[in-house]
Amino acid sequence: MLQQMSDAVARYGHGEVSRAIRGVQAQLRQQLDHGRPALVADEVFSQRVEAELQARHQPTLRSVFNLTGTVLHTNLGRALLPAEAVAAMVAVATAPSTLEFDLAQGKRGERDKHVEALICELSGTEAATVVNNNAAAIFLVLNTLALGREVPTSRGELVEIGGSFRVPEIMARAGCHLVEVGTTNRTHLKDYAGAIGEHTALLMKVHTSNYRVEGFTHSVDEKALATLAHERRLPFVVDMGSGSLVDFAALGLPAEPTVAATVAQGADVITFSGDKLLGGPQCGIVAGRRELIERIRKNPLKRVLRLDKLNLAALAEVLKLYRNPATLKERLPTLRLLTRPLADIEAQARRVQPAIAAALGARFRLTVVPCHSLIGSGALPVETLPSAALEIAPLSGDDGELRSLAAALRGLPLPIIGRLSSGRLLLDCRCLESEGDFLVQWIALPEALT
Ligand SMILES: *Cc1c(COP(=O)(O)O)cnc(C)c1O
Repeated sequence: MLQQMSDAVARYGHGEVSRAIRGVQAQLRQQLDHGRPALVADEVFSQRVEAELQARHQPTLRSVFNLTGTVLHTNLGRALLPAEAVAAMVAVATAPSTLEFDLAQGKRGERDKHVEALICELSGTEAATVVNNNAAAIFLVLNTLALGREVPTSRGELVEIGGSFRVPEIMARAGCHLVEVGTTNRTHLKDYAGAIGEHTALLMKVHTSNYRVEGFTHSVDEKALATLAHERRLPFVVDMGSGSLVDFAALGLPAEPTVAATVAQGADVITFSGDKLLGGPQCGIVAGRRELIERIRKNPLKRVLRLDKLNLAALAEVLKLYRNPATLKERLPTLRLLTRPLADIEAQARRVQPAIAAALGARFRLTVVPCHSLIGSGALPVETLPSAALEIAPLSGDDGELRSLAAALRGLPLPIIGRLSSGRLLLDCRCLESEGDFLVQWIALPEALT
């Protein structure tokens, strides 16, 4: 035992090991207080100390299997990065870099320069800057261009994105005055025209990304709004939300307006997320007319909201992948997962089925069923992608048993997150890429279930 303890001290430090030993001793004492024998062999004692130490050092931010069927799952970290982006992050994380250093001049440089030309090239804009996320991008744009002034916005676009991001609240915090125009279901060009006055700062359109109003509806398209804004000498700002850089329809996916198309409609400034359909790191991209982007960049809050070097390095690599559209689908994980052929997903589900059935034992019924994946992160809320899932149902029909199973799967070394739906646990295989690691997890399941 001494040898094991001194190994543990070398790895975790004295304080940690003595805390763990005291913890195990306390558990044993409690056992004695409850009249249960608490004599343990040295071997068992040191194993329990080791387990205690490992538990304390397990990161809370861990990898999981996302089998929820939502590809860009905000709670599970949204887009996965391609290898090129990860390598670039490691490089700038472990050595000094040219983050704000101009090698040619030997002087201070500008951090936006690492991505600005790429963004402009891919979006057809004159200038661009990047911040922490799209929420920050919208905030910075409004705070720069509309501080103390009015922003007419359609009642149909006063969206809540999730958490505490609500357009009216962001506008208030950015210091501008929201002027609601139109109604929930219908807003016309004349509503905007009537709302423009001497205090108007800009016209804004917010992509209603996470819901759709159907039936008797009307909204004003980008082109008409841009024309109106320009007639009144106002900038036209579009919050695109997801903002795709490629034509989704051409990839066989539900159509989503591209950034370049929205710019071509006359948007002067657009904002979108880096970790949604773009498939990059968390960030918010602001692109548009040079003079407006310059003003946005000079806002002191830009420093508060700026992007860190790791994400900047990753973003540059992800954007470079877009220069070769032919290989994009394989190299960018988000697009790879979204375009995964149904036959492929189905074959995989059938391939892993026997091993999982064996691990589940006789209490559960396991079938491969068709299902629908969602893109997620508010992108294309109504359209779904045909997929295949492992459907698990307890033979007893007992919901408690199903919930215990879901909890046991979350407790595996690499937790498996599925979707509970009317008495069944669905494991959508669309995002299952490391099949070997996945199968290994199930070996530990029977023990976790008892
Ligand atoms: C997702 C989204 C946001 C927020 O973007 P984050 O990158 O999560 O900050 C804002 N507006 C719209 C329309 C969105 O879809």
